[in-house]
Amino acid sequence: MNAPLDKTIESQSTEKPVTDIASKKWDAVIVGGGMVGATVALGLGQQGMSVLLLEKQAIETSWKADSAYQMRVSALTRASEKILRNLGAWQGIENRRFHPFTAMHVWDEVTPGEIHFSAKDMGEPNLGYTIENDVIQSALWEQVEVCDNITVLLDHRLESLRLENDQAWLTLESVGEIQTELLIGADGAMSQVRELACIGLDTHDYEQCAVVGCVKTELSSEDTCWQRYTQNGPFAYLSMGENVSSIAWYLPMEKMQWALALSDKDFAEEVSKASDYRLGAVVEVAERGAFPLVRRHAEHYVKPHLALVGDAAHTVHPQAGQGVNLGLLDAAALIETVLDAKALNKAWGRYSVLRKYERWRRGDNALVQRSMEAFDWLFKQDASLKVIVRKGLLPLANRLTPIKNWLMGQALNGREALPKLAKSIGFQER
Ligand SMILES: Cc1cc2nc3c(=O)[nH]c(=O)nc-3n(C[C@H](O)[C@H](O)[C@H](O)COP(=O)(O)OP(=O)(O)OC[C@H]3O[C@@H](n4cnc5c(N)ncnc54)[C@H](O)[C@@H]3O)c2cc1C
Repeated sequence: MNAPLDKTIESQSTEKPVTDIASKKWDAVIVGGGMVGATVALGLGQQGMSVLLLEKQAIETSWKADSAYQMRVSALTRASEKILRNLGAWQGIENRRFHPFTAMHVWDEVTPGEIHFSAKDMGEPNLGYTIENDVIQSALWEQVEVCDNITVLLDHRLESLRLENDQAWLTLESVGEIQTELLIGADGAMSQVRELACIGLDTHDYEQCAVVGCVKTELSSEDTCWQRYTQNGPFAYLSMGENVSSIAWYLPMEKMQWALALSDKDFAEEVSKASDYRLGAVVEVAERGAFPLVRRHAEHYVKPHLALVGDAAHTVHPQAGQGVNLGLLDAAALIETVLDAKALNKAWGRYSVLRKYERWRRGDNALVQRSMEAFDWLFKQDASLKVIVRKGLLPLANRLTPIKNWLMGQALNGREALPKLAKSIGFQER
């Protein structure tokens, strides 16, 4: 493996002094400083809004070039790249570790069809980037640290919240009551904000888990993301450069403990088999983990003076690597909605303003969720009708260049109704 498996990161606190937190009305209070919450904080803070960012745990911003590969990796789209560039966080990613991939290859275990997408055919330099989640998060927090309008509070327990006509109130165990024009729940799939706001959740258990981690293979990954559909679920190698790939190995839930308990040698062998030895044998494995997969969709994204973003609003099957990309689009759409309202001297926490954000994002997110479900259904079992459809589907899509280009265009840049932050580099100062 290029980088050693042991990693030392100097611990660093990003918390700023707690002054007058309870006495002022914040333009926005964000609960959760993950990739999505930190993005919203920067988008609002950098435009002069007073932002209070609450995060449960300290986020590391220091980085060593020889750091071991992390377990959690995301494939980011070009639209996400633009958002992060516009907020000044992309340089931090480039200074740490990232890998542009230039092709995607998808094939099926039981039918001969294959589909291949290449950046060259699309006239693009790459199809996206594989980046460790810690890298994205620490690059964002590096910018949070230098943004004077953002105040960070770490490890302050949220006790309750109250939504009123003119503002939101939240109570923190150690600080007391805080008032804000807009409370933003970016606190992940098990969102406490969503729960305290009594927003219902539509869920679907895939009864599947994703086993993830980085591996080194005999053959080069060729800067390609490889995805194989098997009877158990998909298997993917996401190229991290040269012979290193991050795997996403989808298994029925009952196999999760089995996969985690395998010795490194047996794990390497099973992964090689799941990938049909596409990159030869796996010769080294790093830290691995497994995540149960559940689709969740909040019944509402907004209430007066409250908005949900990212996994707090929706989780999606990760087989197409869309989760954080959708979350970053939520962030960019909410930032734009709020800044537009502010520019017109409208209260940005008003329900009628926030509904624009909800209309903008909810349908798109639902569409991606349903598409993932359709794929899951089609490729999971080998019932004869499904096999016939699959036999035709991949070769047909592979031959029809306009379909391929459309599919890849969606993945690269998203739909037309993209927020400004995701459209082009150089977000205008207001
Ligand atoms: C196996 C797997 C593979 C994936 N691969 C991809 C991929 O390739 N591409 C992609 O786009 N997406 C991928 N995803 C999805 C992606 O990881 C998530 O969508 C993304 O992490 C969501 O970011 P978030 O900031 O909304 O939430 P989170 O990452 O969950 O962050 C929430 C933050 O809120 C904090 N928090 C929680 N509660 C509180 C509280 N009460 N007070 C204060 N802070 C709080 C947490 O500490 C955390 O920092 C994958 C997911 C899985 C499971």
